[in-house]
Amino acid sequence: MVVARHTHRQWLKPFAFSRSVGGRKISRRMKKKAAIHSELARCRDCNQLCCRYITVKIPAPRTICDFDGLLWQLAHENVKAFKDSTGWHLLIYNSCMHLEDSGECAIYEGRPITCREHSINSCEYDNSIEASSMNFFGSYEALDTYCRKKFKTWDRRF
Ligand code: SF4
Ligand code: SF4
Repeated sequence: MVVARHTHRQWLKPFAFSRSVGGRKISRRMKKKAAIHSELARCRDCNQLCCRYITVKIPAPRTICDFDGLLWQLAHENVKAFKDSTGWHLLIYNSCMHLEDSGECAIYEGRPITCREHSINSCEYDNSIEASSMNFFGSYEALDTYCRKKFKTWDRRF
């Protein structure tokens, strides 16, 4: 059910690689370390966006009744909706309980698979969910306006 694009938390552990050896290996390791530093800076800059929400895939709304139900969901605090190439989703902003004030993951070794699979190379830092969506509804009003255009009888649905 949860489709979230999560976790920056690949960044603390990789420093374990940094033991010295000689020749080209050092240079490869230096490059890797530089890349890790750069990732770490990105994660600090973005304030751990990927640990502050979940997404939930939902059936594509089709009827007036479906959209009315979605509108009800968006009437709730921190709930948004979007459609992308994989379908429709609720987006719920709510920080993970394991995200520490320092920005680190308190359960790094045991973090969920969703977190492990999230790639820093294609994350929200460069491409927000809104920007990468085909349709994005950030508010009740935005969805209501969309429904008025989509359904001529929207105001007579009750
Ligand atoms: S959204 Fe990207 S840059 Fe931000 S913390 Fe997550 S992985 Fe790092
Ligand atoms: S478990 Fe850790 S990596 Fe996953 S969302 Fe929570 S804080 Fe982020």
